[in-house]
Amino acid sequence: MDDYDNLLDRARSQVPEDAFKRSGERFRVPKVQLMVQGNRSIWQNFQDVINALNRPGKEVLKFVSGQLGTAGNVEGSNALFNGKFTEQALSEVIDKYIESYVICPVCTRPDTDIIKDSGAYYLRCSACGARTSIRPV
Ligand SMILES: [Zn+2]
Repeated sequence: MDDYDNLLDRARSQVPEDAFKRSGERFRVPKVQLMVQGNRSIWQNFQDVINALNRPGKEVLKFVSGQLGTAGNVEGSNALFNGKFTEQALSEVIDKYIESYVICPVCTRPDTDIIKDSGAYYLRCSACGARTSIRPV
């Protein structure tokens, strides 16, 4: 019996740790980089973040501008906002976006896209197949 346990321990120690973690993998979005310049705030890694979110930049910008209560536009790989904002404020808004428009509420996976059907918007999950009604951005 002892031998069997030892064997099992040895087998387990040879499995890379990643194999156990993979199922609980967290959705990773780069930390926002925001720089205030005069009366404007420059979101420097806008492109990287929307790539990670897998959402159109225009839509994300619209949501973020609305939440910050300002106007924003895209310039190259940056997004610019009128007014001074903190990285923390921006990252809270992005978390909100992810919660509402990226993460599937059924299985909590981020493998979703947004579809429009008969004038209504849905979050469609390719991991579990759920379709969740959402408010348009
Ligand atoms: Zn799902």
